[in-house]
Amino acid sequence: MVEFDLLLRAKLVIPDSTIRPLSPGFVAIRDSKIRAIGEGSPTGIEAREEIVARDGIIIPGLVSTHDHMYGVLAHGIPVNKGIEGFRSFLEDFWWPKVEDRLDLDALRAGLELSALERLATGTTCVADILEAPNTIPGALDAEAKVLERVGMRAVLSFEATERVSRENGRQGLQENATFIAGRNRKAGLVRGMHCIHTTFTCSPSFIKECREQADETGAGIHIHLEESPYESEYTRETYHKLPVEVYDGLGFWGPDVLASQCVQTTPDEINTLAENRVKVSHQPLSNGEVGGGISPVPLMMNKGITVGLGTDGFIFDMFEVMRGAWWLHKAASTNPSVMSASQVFRMATEAGASILGTGAGAIRPGLKADLVVLDNLFPTPITKENALTQLVVYGSGRFVRDVVVDGNVVVRGRKTVHANMASARRKGLEAAGRLWSPAAS
Ligand SMILES: [Zn+2]
Repeated sequence: MVEFDLLLRAKLVIPDSTIRPLSPGFVAIRDSKIRAIGEGSPTGIEAREEIVARDGIIIPGLVSTHDHMYGVLAHGIPVNKGIEGFRSFLEDFWWPKVEDRLDLDALRAGLELSALERLATGTTCVADILEAPNTIPGALDAEAKVLERVGMRAVLSFEATERVSRENGRQGLQENATFIAGRNRKAGLVRGMHCIHTTFTCSPSFIKECREQADETGAGIHIHLEESPYESEYTRETYHKLPVEVYDGLGFWGPDVLASQCVQTTPDEINTLAENRVKVSHQPLSNGEVGGGISPVPLMMNKGITVGLGTDGFIFDMFEVMRGAWWLHKAASTNPSVMSASQVFRMATEAGASILGTGAGAIRPGLKADLVVLDNLFPTPITKENALTQLVVYGSGRFVRDVVVDGNVVVRGRKTVHANMASARRKGLEAAGRLWSPAAS
């Protein structure tokens, strides 16, 4: 008899996007890692805690590789002036009305609410970028404390940009460097990554400085790239080059760069990203929100680029994001065979975890135990053969019953374990009220 911390049993266990599901299946966890999986009865396995979902489905935890969790406070915020394009979205709305008004109290409230919403709908890990120039220094530490308390895995960054001032930009670079120095060598749920915004808010010397920092720490760099036609227009006019070429000329690209968006990236630019083994995060839903276009994800995947999915701080349910990626590229290419359910599921799990280096992302012995138990609320049978299609095309965060992160149960029976959702909603509403108040203009 071998003793484990936790044993999960369900009608179906879906280990990853390629292995045939186990039915009925079990997963045994000890010391934060998956130690055994199998089909049928878990004979000889004893655990201190057992979660049984006789009709349920166990999947790997979902990973959002590009997020802005503070952004929940701006959902539905009144916009006085019509948004006339991507630049106007930033200049007339997002920067003055949201980013510049955020303080640490609002940040903590928004983050806790966002983290609980994500956990409760099956997301176990996020790569989050904080865009709030008036919250540093100390913003990333404040965020990490909230996430550790609720039990969410995360890779955090502060978006360094010279938009406000060169001095504020330098403080942003330092915020990441300080956080990374304090966190990345320790084992824990939360670590840091370097981050700059774009070529239109960061000068070449500033971009180089970030590259040098990342070379020293090995912590990687998270950026926004070509979210709309605007960035390419800007660099054509300013540098007579496309954005990927500008970065290339600065020696910026490498396998440690996570480029989010990549909506307007050209085939030549994609070749450069592929040659440099740059990772990409795809946001099918938020790209629509800002009118940015449709990212050429199928081409990037054909070129061998590892692509994950992200919410971008917009619709937080990763099942919605998966569904968006699944149908959008079929529509864009008028080809229903593009972007299979299996490819999409892999992006939301194993690919995301590998991009962020979390050691989770699939249900296999030796990997970190980040798992989700779903109630079977599918109106039609879910089987070994159709499981991935059911999950990606018809699944929902509403199905999530239990969530395990790093071997710990953080959602049990639809209730968040380490923080109260109702109280987080109340605090989030108050913080949103302050952010939206005309007095704050
Ligand atoms: Zn973003």
